[in-house]
Amino acid sequence: MDIDTLRLKIRKARTSPRGEHSRTTWKDVGDEFGIPGGTAHRIATSDYEPKRPVIRFRLGLPTLVPAPVCSQCGQLHVSKRCVLRKRKPNPFAGWVILIPVEAI
Ligand SMILES: [Zn+2]
Repeated sequence: MDIDTLRLKIRKARTSPRGEHSRTTWKDVGDEFGIPGGTAHRIATSDYEPKRPVIRFRLGLPTLVPAPVCSQCGQLHVSKRCVLRKRKPNPFAGWVILIPVEAI
């Protein structure tokens, strides 16, 4: 499940009535998903995405693993070399050099 689908499910669980006089609380919603009520509220009302593996597992979210970012551009690469870095232009490109006639 992705975070957007989960967010919709939590919002739906919060708004669905459980009875005429009872109101669904964030704690109730959290209990339904196996997470704290505050976490359910935060997921439903903001761009928050839980990082703790236990919470992610309970919610059916994919596991996150740390990955090094490129020290040059700050992006994540599969290759060791930075693929986004622009190569430095050759300062001698297009130049014509003069050599002594004796060398020809
Ligand atoms: Zn890079």
